[in-house]
Amino acid sequence: MSSELQLIHSEILECTKCDLHKSRTKAVPGEGPLDARIMFVGEGPGQNEDEQGRPFVGAAGKFLTELLESIGLKRSDVFITNIVKCRPPNRILCALGTPAINTLIGDEYSASRFHGKPLTKGEVTMLPMYHPAAALYDASLKETLLHDFQVLKQLLEKEETHSPSTPKSAERSGAKQTLEKWL
Ligand code: URA
Repeated sequence: MSSELQLIHSEILECTKCDLHKSRTKAVPGEGPLDARIMFVGEGPGQNEDEQGRPFVGAAGKFLTELLESIGLKRSDVFITNIVKCRPPNRILCALGTPAINTLIGDEYSASRFHGKPLTKGEVTMLPMYHPAAALYDASLKETLLHDFQVLKQLLEKEETHSPSTPKSAERSGAKQTLEKWL
């Protein structure tokens, strides 16, 4: 690696210019030959990239490698990096009411069965809930919503301590996995 690139690498690895450095495991500077004719620039590191400090090493990376091979190139022929060098922390997406839950999580999910039970879908933690308007018609749902907001609070607190919001095995199995600890 050239000394100039080495310097950029070290700056990225030590960078604390934004809050993303607080939750990252490893910064991901990018890799590839300096004289590569092609450079790929992705969005930002995911969980695998964050753990390994290398770009595109998860499922998307495997597919990118296949795409390269489909035109006779190897991964090692190209330079691969991301706009953002540190993994953005998990986002929590609260789906309010069954129509939002069906659209965002899946048709087989409903507010009545899955409210207050977090699921993971890719990098996002999804929390199905009743729609607040439902409590205007059925007062008992107010308590349910208050309880589910406590679940939300716990998820936020977990993120603040930088631990993954869900066990890794559950993250891997995707949205269909309902987390036992919340049942
Ligand atoms: N998606 C990206 O945008 N970058 C990676 O490094 C991996 C997945």
